[in-house]
Amino acid sequence: MHLLLVEDDERLARALTRLLEEDRHVVEHAPDGVTGLELAAAIEGLDVVILDVGLPDMSGLDVARRLRRDRVDVAILMLTARDTVTDRVTGLDAGADDYVVKPFAYQEVAARLRALARRAEPGPRRAEPRLEAGAITLDETSRRVTAAGRNVDLSPREFSLLEALLRHAGQTLSRDQLLDLAWPFSVAVTPNAVDAYVHYLRTKLGDAGAQIETVRGVGYRLADA
Ligand code: CA
Repeated sequence: MHLLLVEDDERLARALTRLLEEDRHVVEHAPDGVTGLELAAAIEGLDVVILDVGLPDMSGLDVARRLRRDRVDVAILMLTARDTVTDRVTGLDAGADDYVVKPFAYQEVAARLRALARRAEPGPRRAEPRLEAGAITLDETSRRVTAAGRNVDLSPREFSLLEALLRHAGQTLSRDQLLDLAWPFSVAVTPNAVDAYVHYLRTKLGDAGAQIETVRGVGYRLADA
């Protein structure tokens, strides 16, 4: 997809852009609201604006309202700082299609973008997005995980980690790659956290936990059968 990221936090913008580009998106960046509006009007075939609420020159909410008022045909994914009902309702009222709450992990943004892409597709609705490998299934919409048909309760971080492993089933991912995909950008964690969470996941998945293989000296791989 062709994306416009309106975000004044340079570090966050760089990290997010790199991961989005690895997922083969084309990403433009605007550091403030005025530049964001100019680029949104100028770029042909723009699919989604990823819009920070707290910008230096104007509120992201005003950027969303202006885009809608000017009938710019683009989906808006809002990055909000606080998870309160008022913030969410205000964002959606301003014209946002969806939102993620900071601090977020890359997988959360990626999942919301996939949902927006599906919504934009013409024709009959597609099946719910379900990831599956061997005995493990994960439904991104209902956030339901099963192992050998049994429901498994996961924390948000465990869910993001399993989602990352499932999206790359059969591939080895380093601890750093897993941190990039499953941990919020603003949280300082060491690669050891990945080992701890893999341990929790294996325990909760029971027999299916054995599908998460340790690749010595590198990281982890989810066996896809
Ligand atoms: Ca900001």
